Amino acid sequence: MTRVEQLLSRLARVKGRNGSWTACCPAHDDKGPSLAVKEGEDGRILMHCFAGCNTADVLGAIGMEMNDLFPPKEKTQDGIRPSMKPAFFASDLMRIIHVEALVVQIVAFDIAKGKPVNEETRERMLTAYERIDEAVRYANV
Ligand SMILES: [Zn+2]
Repeated sequence: MTRVEQLLSRLARVKGRNGSWTACCPAHDDKGPSLAVKEGEDGRILMHCFAGCNTADVLGAIGMEMNDLFPPKEKTQDGIRPSMKPAFFASDLMRIIHVEALVVQIVAFDIAKGKPVNEETRERMLTAYERIDEAVRYANV
């Protein structure tokens, strides 16, 4: 069983094929399938709940972790996995970026709906930008 098959086997009402599926989101009371699952060409599994659930929560509800979305890393010549070298694990950085991107997404959604953006929100957006920027710098990309 591939990693994506393993993931899909834990979800309800799975539909789709060719690397793209929909299913019921296990993190909220999902009436219609609002979870999209996609397998990237690099072996990464992408998922998105259209009701707005955090990916970590969706995975947590089926006993999986963010790390399970990524293909196993190959060991380098010195036997040290690349993810063990930086002060932060790549998965931690991804989690930070994911949360901050979600903040931006929520605010962008409000703006799109014509909701006014107050000072507090503007401040939070700036913090999100700074955190993403910092995480990217830690990741050395
Ligand atoms: Zn959900």
